[in-house]
Amino acid sequence: MEVKEFLKDLYVIDNGHVRCFLIVGKENALLIDTLFKQDDVFSEVKKLTDNPVTVVLTHGDGDHFGGVAPFKECYLHHNDFDLVKEDVLKHAVKENDTFDVGDYHFQVIEIPGHTNGSIALFDKEKGLLISGDSLQKEGPIFMFGEHRDLDKYIESHKKLLAMKDEIKTVLPSHHEYPIDNSYIEKNLLDAIDLKDGKLEGVKTTDRPCLTYTGKNGTSFYFN
Ligand SMILES: [Zn+2]
Repeated sequence: MEVKEFLKDLYVIDNGHVRCFLIVGKENALLIDTLFKQDDVFSEVKKLTDNPVTVVLTHGDGDHFGGVAPFKECYLHHNDFDLVKEDVLKHAVKENDTFDVGDYHFQVIEIPGHTNGSIALFDKEKGLLISGDSLQKEGPIFMFGEHRDLDKYIESHKKLLAMKDEIKTVLPSHHEYPIDNSYIEKNLLDAIDLKDGKLEGVKTTDRPCLTYTGKNGTSFYFN
């Protein structure tokens, strides 16, 4: 596990495949995602702060909610409630809800597609976007399986593209970080080509899907 203070009071906790983010304020702390259960992010968080911790999930995939149980409750979009198979109290978040911790003021941006309840967290003053799995440098971005929706994914990326000038730094959950706002358009254009059947799928993984790579460098796992 690698733990790094990437920005003042903002820690990146990374297991080598997926990362989560802990922001420590004077009286509270905010944990964005919880890695896999076996990563025991609860213990990592306790090493960094004794403050009460609010947990918010970018979406309901197992590498994001896996470690949530010891925290007993979490915030996420209600569309992903059913995906979180842990016995915790779930609080619903929606567009423009806010989380304040220390110098950070995050607002919820709904970006369904990767899952129906995917959200990003955006600190407008800092131009900082925590994007979950929806926006990444090159991926592969997981778009195969039951709860994915490529049409919604494209609409959500158009929404992010409209905010592009306000977004300076993007912290995705997978692959390289930080990345810049140019990847919004790259992901979007490649997703549109994927939808339009312009990309050729190749078998590169044991997963029940093919890999499609767009000309802007984004690859997708897709049926
Ligand atoms: Zn993920």
